Amino acid sequence: MHPHRPIPPVVDPSRVIKGLRCKECGHFYEKSPIYVCEFDFGPLEVVYDYELLRGKLTREVIESRPKNLWRYRELLPVESEPEIGLYSGCTPLVHADRLAKRLGVEELYIKDDSCNHPTFSYKDRVVSVALSKAKEFGYKTVSCASTGNLGNSVSAHAARAGFETYIFVPAGLEIGKIVGSLVYHPTLVEVEGNYDDVNRFCSELGEKYRWAFVNINLRPYYTEGAKTYGFEVAEQLGWRLPQHIVVPVAGGTILPRVYRAFREFVTLGLVEDTKPRFHAAQAAGCSPIVTAIKERSEVFRPVKPNTIAKSIAIGNPADGYEVMDIVRKTGGWGEEATDEEIIDAIKLLAETEGIFTETAGGTTLAVAKKLIEQGVLPRDESIVVSITGNGMKTQEAVADHIGAPVRIQPNLASFEEVCLGALAGV
Ligand SMILES: *Cc1c(COP(=O)(O)O)cnc(C)c1O
Ligand SMILES: [Zn+2]
Repeated sequence: MHPHRPIPPVVDPSRVIKGLRCKECGHFYEKSPIYVCEFDFGPLEVVYDYELLRGKLTREVIESRPKNLWRYRELLPVESEPEIGLYSGCTPLVHADRLAKRLGVEELYIKDDSCNHPTFSYKDRVVSVALSKAKEFGYKTVSCASTGNLGNSVSAHAARAGFETYIFVPAGLEIGKIVGSLVYHPTLVEVEGNYDDVNRFCSELGEKYRWAFVNINLRPYYTEGAKTYGFEVAEQLGWRLPQHIVVPVAGGTILPRVYRAFREFVTLGLVEDTKPRFHAAQAAGCSPIVTAIKERSEVFRPVKPNTIAKSIAIGNPADGYEVMDIVRKTGGWGEEATDEEIIDAIKLLAETEGIFTETAGGTTLAVAKKLIEQGVLPRDESIVVSITGNGMKTQEAVADHIGAPVRIQPNLASFEEVCLGALAGV
């Protein structure tokens, strides 16, 4: 099936997409390029008319479509025919039997965005939607505040779509994340400070320059793209929901959007509501949300990150309260992983399932392992572990922990002496 085949919507998108609503006070706004509520500065979210889609957006319609994230286009906030991200999404849901055995559980899946197109992380989903919207709004320049993967994804998609690009990252990222942006030739700006400083600075820039900051002024649309991760999990499980899903938390975009995806599928009658539980994963060196969950606190305290999991090192998460709310109301929990546990989990996933994830994925698997040991994830219930990024970008994290190649002369004697040591004399 050719991905360039258009995806005709079952209902005119301009009728389905109603407008924006403030997540704080509920105030409704007509469609326009605004992103915070004028009354309380609350974040806005896109409102859809699900009634128009019920019975029309069916399992069969979705299954007949090309394998990219636009197969769920009626539930995404783009009205024109999608042109950006035609190869993104539809990553594997791996039935992880060997890993399940090692962890002592019966039904375990890896949703593997380490191989997302084109920049190997879940960010290719949010960026596909945000840049499509940037195009609709007529922006010429796109930008973002990034911990690395978002910058990579904006750079690549923007190159193909012909935008001018400015990427802002905290200084000191992994070389793989730097090269992974620079190769697409954006203006890459390293800011002396941590991600939260970068984000604050970008908000300031956004007031002066008419640029599309994908995760700031396009945030209501950007976040919607993350729903496709959840839609795919439900479809790939055979149109059902898992009993548990473990999700990494940085700014707090993906966890609430996977929840929203599951809710929307329930609303449309595409899956049965089996009440999945959402569990949050953070690194011990940056765990404001998990700490609040474990302390059963109503508020979280922003922190200064110090962890090898740089892609999820956000000390003051924009959607932190939404994450806490969803974890609590679904009966989920949260855990954190030390740098050592992150490295061990990266190796475990590679050795059992042949998947090389980055430090964020190591964090999520390490947390899943802990939650299994604690009995929070019962051994006979279905579990999805969210792998969101690729290990080739964070090689520094494991390079000193995986041994080294053996070196030989190009002859049989040398090979047998060095590699078959014990066997050589037989
Ligand atoms: C951005 C990112 C996340 C999660 O970030 P949210 O802002 O919480 O959605 C997780 N894993 C990787 C690899 C990322 O790049
Ligand atoms: Zn409001």
